[in-house]
Amino acid sequence: MEPIIEASAIIKIYRAGSTSVAALQGVDLCVGDGEFIAIMGTSGSGKSTLMNILGCLDRPTKGEYRLDGIPVHKMKPDEMAAVRNEKIGFVFQGFNLLSRTSAQENVELPLLYDRTHRMKNPREAAADALAQVGLGDRKHHDPNQLSGGEQQRVAVARAIVSRPAILMADEPTGNLDSKTTVEILDLFKELNNQGMTILMVTHEWDVAQRARRIIEMCDGRIVSDKSRSHEKALPSHLCLSIKEPDRGGWICES
Ligand code: ADP
Ligand code: MG
Repeated sequence: MEPIIEASAIIKIYRAGSTSVAALQGVDLCVGDGEFIAIMGTSGSGKSTLMNILGCLDRPTKGEYRLDGIPVHKMKPDEMAAVRNEKIGFVFQGFNLLSRTSAQENVELPLLYDRTHRMKNPREAAADALAQVGLGDRKHHDPNQLSGGEQQRVAVARAIVSRPAILMADEPTGNLDSKTTVEILDLFKELNNQGMTILMVTHEWDVAQRARRIIEMCDGRIVSDKSRSHEKALPSHLCLSIKEPDRGGWICES
């Protein structure tokens, strides 16, 4: 598998006045093209900070990051934005859709802001993306006319409308009930089967089990990194009925 993400010795320090927080304390991570990864860890362990750096939303204080071979750590903010727009789609916990704006328009929006105009026909691309997430018949609904699960599917359509290589999702099921959680995870699986690399942050054990590789963070470091073979991945209906193991496994042994 070709690496698509190569991060080495990533350090992130947030400074505010005289205080500083070392959110990432030396993270090395290599992700192959086409992987489906869950990043786990307790609140404050650095998951979002890492995802923001890998997603070119923020830069590391120190360390090197290559995205699809491109040395992002050397880039200026506008160059980073261009790489981000081309290669990455984002999904967040809170859907972040524009209200009083149809699903179709919400999904079209990133294409209208894309100065490279890679997608020649935004309307068609948005309709295709909505069909792909199973909302072909909800195109003209506003977010407030859709359920939470449907809103998150619109957000996924918006993330994939420009056909990015990587989908990054930060707690994508955090606001969803278990049934719609399964629907979103099934959708991720399908996108991954079609070749999209997926990086998903979650603090829920059962959600993480749907990924092929699970990375666990603690205090700004990767403390475990485990892959499972495809066959061993649990089917969703089993996964969500299994009781969480004792959380000892997630506690840091520093
Ligand atoms: P997680 O997503 O795992 O909950 P974060 O990456 O959000 O963790 O945060 C890691 C650490 O960095 C925490 O201690 C958090 O308080 C701190 N942090 C995150 N963002 C900022 C920021 N913008 N400014 C200062 N500290 C921050
Ligand atoms: Mg977070």
